[in-house]
Amino acid sequence: MLKVNAIAATSATDPLVRTTVERRDLGPRDVLIEIRYAGICHSDIHTVRGEWGEIAYPQTVGHEIVGRVIEVGNEVTRFENGARVGVGCMVNSCRECENCRAGHEQYCTAGNTGTYASVDRDGTITQGGYSTHIVVDEDFVLRVPEAIPYEKAAPLLCAGITTYSPLAHWNAGPGKKVAVVGMGGLGHMAVKIAAAMGAEVTVLSQTLSKKDDGLAFGGGDYYATSDAATFEALKNTFDLIINTVSAPIDMTAHLGLLRLDGTLVSVGAPPQPLEVPVWALFGNRRSFAGSGIGSIAETQEMLDFCAERGIAPEVEVIGADQVNEAYERVLSSDVRYRFVIDVDTLR
Ligand SMILES: [Zn+2]
Ligand SMILES: [Zn+2]
Repeated sequence: MLKVNAIAATSATDPLVRTTVERRDLGPRDVLIEIRYAGICHSDIHTVRGEWGEIAYPQTVGHEIVGRVIEVGNEVTRFENGARVGVGCMVNSCRECENCRAGHEQYCTAGNTGTYASVDRDGTITQGGYSTHIVVDEDFVLRVPEAIPYEKAAPLLCAGITTYSPLAHWNAGPGKKVAVVGMGGLGHMAVKIAAAMGAEVTVLSQTLSKKDDGLAFGGGDYYATSDAATFEALKNTFDLIINTVSAPIDMTAHLGLLRLDGTLVSVGAPPQPLEVPVWALFGNRRSFAGSGIGSIAETQEMLDFCAERGIAPEVEVIGADQVNEAYERVLSSDVRYRFVIDVDTLR
């Protein structure tokens, strides 16, 4: 066992504190990663505050992890010491179910093993990336291209793949009109990726306060959802809408923006159910769908795509002792656009 420095939540209400977590001994197919940066995802906050169900404390979160390999198990073939690597939202799956065998391990029917707050194969609870080191099976480790700076690579492992996967699946590209709802951590990546794929991108944000950014990231148009005229002006327009908002939205109004055979995909996860009147789907034969992260192969494809196109998230790097303050700022949407912890401040 390796005892490593970390930041953890000790209850649903107390601030996160410095502590240590244990990492398992290196198995034959494991790699030991020295973490350099860890992104702060809204899911981290939902999880430590018990908003997505009860969890065991202390809990270290963080599933946007980048660093370098410093030790490999004796059967590891894909990585060597010094490799620039990343770990995202999952660290294992059953590998036997229909979905795992088809390369969609994020949809493992037995449930994938989350990078934190999940029961690991040895029965322990997984601990995430707000720590100096992590041990992960090589099958769930990504290679981070040199072209992407370390601190900017971290948010790609959740925000990047969560938006890339539905954009790729629903064929965002030239000739397609894509709307992105919400301009936060996920939304700003969705805009950049959809634009790089060649789609015509419109941003739908609550206000116009981030309009200049949205247009700079590749948006062709930018509308405020607080203005009812937006929904009138954009009726029957989009092939694909990516909803990144993790609070309820007016589904009737948003579905009305889809043209024939259009799809609204939700990737934000509000704790409350969304109200979907079925008649809003009848017109234009619309679909409402969900999408969860992406497979390991697809995550590698996304990292390579971003490196090739020169796309990266906008980040604000913070020290370990600023995490609690950062959580408050995430909750009040006061971040452009992702906080990333410099893990060297934990050593
Ligand atoms: Zn996340
Ligand atoms: Zn499976």
